[in-house]
Amino acid sequence: MSTTSMGAGAGRKQFILVTEHYVDERGDKVFQKLAGQSDPHQYEAQDQRLVELMNRLIPYAEEYLDADERVHWAIHAWDAKRINTQALGNGTVLIADQYSQNPDLSDDDLALIIAHEMAHIIRHHPQEYYSWKYLISPVLFASSFLTSGAVSIAASAGQDVYGIGFKHSAEKEADLLGLEIYAKAGFDPANAMSLMRKIQPLYTQDHPVASKLPKWLQSQRSFKSREKSLKKYQAKAQSLYAQHQQKSSAHLIDWDFKQHEQITQQHLAEASHGFKYLH
Ligand SMILES: [Zn+2]
Repeated sequence: MSTTSMGAGAGRKQFILVTEHYVDERGDKVFQKLAGQSDPHQYEAQDQRLVELMNRLIPYAEEYLDADERVHWAIHAWDAKRINTQALGNGTVLIADQYSQNPDLSDDDLALIIAHEMAHIIRHHPQEYYSWKYLISPVLFASSFLTSGAVSIAASAGQDVYGIGFKHSAEKEADLLGLEIYAKAGFDPANAMSLMRKIQPLYTQDHPVASKLPKWLQSQRSFKSREKSLKKYQAKAQSLYAQHQQKSSAHLIDWDFKQHEQITQQHLAEASHGFKYLH
C-alpha cells in the first residue's frame, strides 16, 4: 500500500502486512510497559504543556489523514532511561522526561519533536516496522539457512541493511512531514536547525556506542544528514508558515471568543485525567 497523496514522503510504496488492530494492541502493551513505570503525578504539570502543544498540531496533522481515517491522539511524558521518543501505532506519542523537563528546550522545540512523532503515526511507520521485523525479517533469516556460504552471509547482511534503510527513510519522512505540520500550525520552521544542535550533544551523551557506529549501521540518521535535508526543505516549510501567518491575521477580525473558551475548557477537562485521549 502507499499512504495519502499529500506531503513529504507521499506515494512511497510501503510494505505493510500487519493489521492496524495488531499495531493498536502492540501500542497499548508498549505503553503499559513504559508508562507503567512512571509516576503520573510527577508529570502532571509537564503533561498539560505537552497536551497543549499537541492540540495545536492536531488539526494540521489531520489534513494528511485519509477521509475515513481516525487517530486517537494521545501524549505522555515517560520516565525513560535514555533520551528517546516513541510513536505508537495506537496514536500515542511518548516523550522522555529528559526532553519534556529539559529547561533548554522551549515550547517551540518540544512542538517539533511532537510533530515528528505524529508524522510517524500518519505515515503508518509503526505498522510498517512491525511488518518488517516480525514477518519479513524472520523469513529472510530462515531462507539464509537453506542457502550456504557467501549467499547466506549476503542474505543476513542484506536484511540488516534493509532494516536500517527502512528506518532511515522513515526518519527522513517524519522529519520533513513533521516540519510541514509544524509550519502549518504556526511554528517557525527555522527553529529546526537550532533544535538539531541542541539535541545532538544530549543524544551522543546518552547513546555513546550507537553514535560512534559507521553511518550505514546506525538505526538513526546522522544529525548531519538530518540537518542537510531539513535545510533543503526550509523554503517549502517557510511558505507554509507564511500562509499560516496570513490566515491567522485574517482570523483576528472574526475571532470567536465563546468557541475559544469552550475548546479551552474541554482541553482542560481532558488534561485533568491521568492519561488522555485528545479526541
Ligand atoms: Zn523518528
